[in-house]
Amino acid sequence: KTTTVCPPDGDQLGQATWTFLHTAAAYYPTNASPTQRSQMLALIHALPVLYPCSHCAEDFGEAVKQHPPDVSGRAALSRWFCERHNEVNEKLMKEPFDCATTDERWKAGPPDGSCD
Ligand code: FAD
Repeated sequence: KTTTVCPPDGDQLGQATWTFLHTAAAYYPTNASPTQRSQMLALIHALPVLYPCSHCAEDFGEAVKQHPPDVSGRAALSRWFCERHNEVNEKLMKEPFDCATTDERWKAGPPDGSCD
């Protein structure tokens, strides 16, 4: 018997995209090279053009204009994505995420080792 795997809905697309973006930021170098900086900028600037939810893409483009990304290194970039994600959370009336816990959520896992 085959199980149907459905195309992603908007929530699944969002969860997958944030997972990629926050994880890419968590593993970004402490001090990024010129190439890494320009490629990260290209990735961020591609989202308002290519993200397959047109009103999401449009709002994200405005957010990028209002808050130019800091792609110098991991800490600043992780914070930048956290803040942009929190703007979307606010728009959707979701709880804000505590950006101080970004590393724990996306890289280190909790101190009790439950994700090891
Ligand atoms: P998500 O918001 O997908 O979050 C996934 C996980 O990330 C959470 O479980 C939490 O552990 C963690 N997290 C939450 N907030 C943060 C944060 N600030 N920093 C770090 N980690 C965090 N949906 C719309 O309906 N309208 C839009 O305009 C819209 N714009 C979007 C723009 C972009 C660029 C992206 C990537 C997604 C957008 N989405 C939009 C989708 C939306 O953000 C959510 O992904 C979707 O609603 C599913 O939400 P969720 O509650 O399952 O968790």
